[in-house]
Amino acid sequence: MNINMKYWGDNMKILVQKFGGSSVSTDEQRKIVASKISGAVKEGYKVAVVVSAMGRMGAAYATDTLKGLVTDESIISKRDMDLLMACGEIISSVVMASELKLLGIEATCLTGGQAGIITDDCFNDARILQVNPAEIYKEFERNDVVLVAGFQGMTKDGKITTLGRGGSDTTAAALGVALNAERVDIYTDVDGVKTADPKIVNNAKTLDKITYNEICQLAHEGAKVIHPRAVEIAMQGNIPLRVLSTFGEGEGTIVANGVLKGENVTDIKNDRIITGITQKTNVSQLIIDNSAKDQEISNKIFKALAQAEISVDFISINETEIIFTVKYTDCEKAVAIINNLGLKVKTNPHCAKVAAVGAGMTGVPGVMSKIVEALTEKNIKILQSADSYTSIWCLVPQENMEEAVRTLHEKFNLG
Ligand code: ASP
Ligand code: MG
Repeated sequence: MNINMKYWGDNMKILVQKFGGSSVSTDEQRKIVASKISGAVKEGYKVAVVVSAMGRMGAAYATDTLKGLVTDESIISKRDMDLLMACGEIISSVVMASELKLLGIEATCLTGGQAGIITDDCFNDARILQVNPAEIYKEFERNDVVLVAGFQGMTKDGKITTLGRGGSDTTAAALGVALNAERVDIYTDVDGVKTADPKIVNNAKTLDKITYNEICQLAHEGAKVIHPRAVEIAMQGNIPLRVLSTFGEGEGTIVANGVLKGENVTDIKNDRIITGITQKTNVSQLIIDNSAKDQEISNKIFKALAQAEISVDFISINETEIIFTVKYTDCEKAVAIINNLGLKVKTNPHCAKVAAVGAGMTGVPGVMSKIVEALTEKNIKILQSADSYTSIWCLVPQENMEEAVRTLHEKFNLG
């Protein structure tokens, strides 16, 4: 991503605030949002506010509702679908502007493209290539607040694109970097990043601080609190993120590396081994026998699956077996493709991937041992495992997933 260096705003204190769909769905909620924005203005910030479409599925202008207006999506071009989907955030920004006006705060609304967000032309899932914040700086000369429609950008030749589901976080992070903001506040309906899904673990805690890397892992592994792409962008620009509730009073979770911007220097180096436990459901494991030790087999299998656009994960190849996972919804198709190659495949269709994530685990002996011990005590089978320097993943039977999450949460004293 290429970001135009700022030429205005050197003495501006800039904050990005992003409000998700569940924060702006009703009139009442929008009033609370307006008060948050007004609070930041009173603290002397210029505020770039990024909004999502109002509400979730069923709400009149939610993204899914807009998508649902088209009877058959397959006959509409992705480019046209982006035109439709981008409307939700545009509507939301104007409605929010009117709420601000009631508080006496002037604010201009910008589409993603008008705000200088330039993307590639991968419609429905575009990547940001460039941010040119000139228009936002111009607005900041006149007003304290700019409202930017999240989740969208524009190609170099002016076609509207969307950034993939959950993409308003990405908008906020990219603007944060482009504006060299003091921080990007992601307002949502939970009070921060948790040590585990509170629906599964009732004593899951809200973390004060977390590193970019850890939250990226958590987000990729199923924690829905923030879009991983947003984290990656903020990390590149070293802009701190904060995840917090629109409706609670808590401070939320700060996402940063070591030293935070601002007056208080806060060190958040790893003081814990495991930060959180996540889970991903509806995963199927495929095991292909290769006792014939034919090297070509892997080649054939992965090529055929790629051609069918089936994404594979948790790949493990050894001399006599090829093991990997696919999404449950792709399982039958994958089996058929492999059978078609004349190969037999064993499946464990109902699995879940449980991950223990923590930047502090790097180089610490005994983490895997604790995981195995905890799961064995509960008779939970580990069907497969893998690791990186910040995560250990275990594939377990889906029926044991919740217990596995709770057990690991307890084993690492996260509650
Ligand atoms: N409204 C979009 C979605 O539902 C973008 C977002 O909310 O971040 O995916
Ligand atoms: Mg979201």
